[in-house]
Amino acid sequence: MLAAPKPILDKRFRLVIDPGHGGENEGCHGHDHGVVEKELTLAMAQQLASRVHELLPRAEILLTREADETLHLSQRVAFANAAEADLFLSLHCNASPLSNQTGYETFILDLEASNEETALTAQRENDEGFARPANTSSEGDVSTMLRELSMTADRSRAAHFARAIQAQQRKLFPDRPDRGVRQGPFDVLLGARMPAVLHEVGFLDHPGEGPMLRSASGQAKLVEAIAQATASYYGDIVRRA
Ligand SMILES: [Zn+2]
Repeated sequence: MLAAPKPILDKRFRLVIDPGHGGENEGCHGHDHGVVEKELTLAMAQQLASRVHELLPRAEILLTREADETLHLSQRVAFANAAEADLFLSLHCNASPLSNQTGYETFILDLEASNEETALTAQRENDEGFARPANTSSEGDVSTMLRELSMTADRSRAAHFARAIQAQQRKLFPDRPDRGVRQGPFDVLLGARMPAVLHEVGFLDHPGEGPMLRSASGQAKLVEAIAQATASYYGDIVRRA
């Protein structure tokens, strides 16, 4: 008699999706100011949660926020740590000083930014638009970061997930620039006790790309790419661990 087929998901897999910004912190704006980043990240995070659930029915998926709430960057990481997540994904939309850039990129944590552009992106994403909680200091951040950079297993897994996201976006969006996997000092990745990445789905302030990010069909494609990357991360890393 044949053995029953193995369930597709046979290892615990808890994914925390962080819709960037929220509440008082709107994030970046569309070129016509008609939409703000915090709305798109929440909409895409919710769609992503249901698509990942279809692909990996037994995965546990949690969102750091389910509504238009103000959350500090450190609270987002603390949420993922408290949930004992296996993977953390912070979702964002990009903006550039001249509103002339397009494409998608994924970041992992490092002390130094890969280049000047990444330094600017990190600065923008780290700016919460309000005071930091009193118990955080940048000196403490640096020592935490140094400690974390020694956690090489999580880092190489984060890089694997980042490359999978870029590969899936490339497949679904062959005409948009693949800006690659980059490294930078992103506060929302700092202190995560699991592989953690920040994905910029595209440039909201670009007159061509912005409307695509806002469209239902554009969002569905972006979400599909990230969901497929999550499933391949599960197959390549979690299931084989
Ligand atoms: Zn952002």
